[in-house]
Amino acid sequence: MELDINKALVVFSGGQDSSTCLFWALKHFSKVHTITFSYGQRHALEVDMARRLAEKAGVDFHLVDAPLIGTLGANSLTAPSVSMDEEKPEGTFPNTFVPGRNLFFLSIAAVYAREHGIKNIVTGVSQTDFSGYPDCRDSFVRSLNVTLNLAMDGQFVIHTPLMWLDKAQTWALADSLGVLDIIRNETLTCYNGIPGDGCGHCPACTLRNAGLKKFLSEKNRLDNNI
Ligand code: ZN
Repeated sequence: MELDINKALVVFSGGQDSSTCLFWALKHFSKVHTITFSYGQRHALEVDMARRLAEKAGVDFHLVDAPLIGTLGANSLTAPSVSMDEEKPEGTFPNTFVPGRNLFFLSIAAVYAREHGIKNIVTGVSQTDFSGYPDCRDSFVRSLNVTLNLAMDGQFVIHTPLMWLDKAQTWALADSLGVLDIIRNETLTCYNGIPGDGCGHCPACTLRNAGLKKFLSEKNRLDNNI
């Protein structure tokens, strides 16, 4: 099947990172699709917000129901009985880690992309702020890109616009794309399911808010110098 170089598929959760990637993709590709996975996240609101934002951005929204991934083990994102690690434990992964999640998401995304003639796959993983998750690393994504091309005899290109950005730089990217307010107010990153600036104390909020604070103070400093 011929893959269209102008089409992109964004692996989309409705959080800060993948939403920034959605607007990045809209800038670089003429036809953008999104794929969202429902896998027993604690907060169904996450899927609703993703759907709303995709509608607002005027892109196709495809929801994949994948409860299997939430049934394989206990982690705090999918199992209500597991309380979330507020801080990363020494020498191991925080229990927000869902093993193989990006491997699974990107593999399914590639099948969808192939069926829809989409050459470009965009994911918001970042090695800079990767919280120790091995499937957010650049080497993993490059390796998987080769594997997917071999598996499906296609020439997909996986794009990772955030790979080397920290959270402050991700906010700066949203600002440069003209969507800072949308990303700040209409996305959900918080592990406790509170949109926008979130609960303020879970690991996702801590990272997101510290990045925002750093970005805003840098922006103020630059604005005042001009
Ligand atoms: Zn939070």
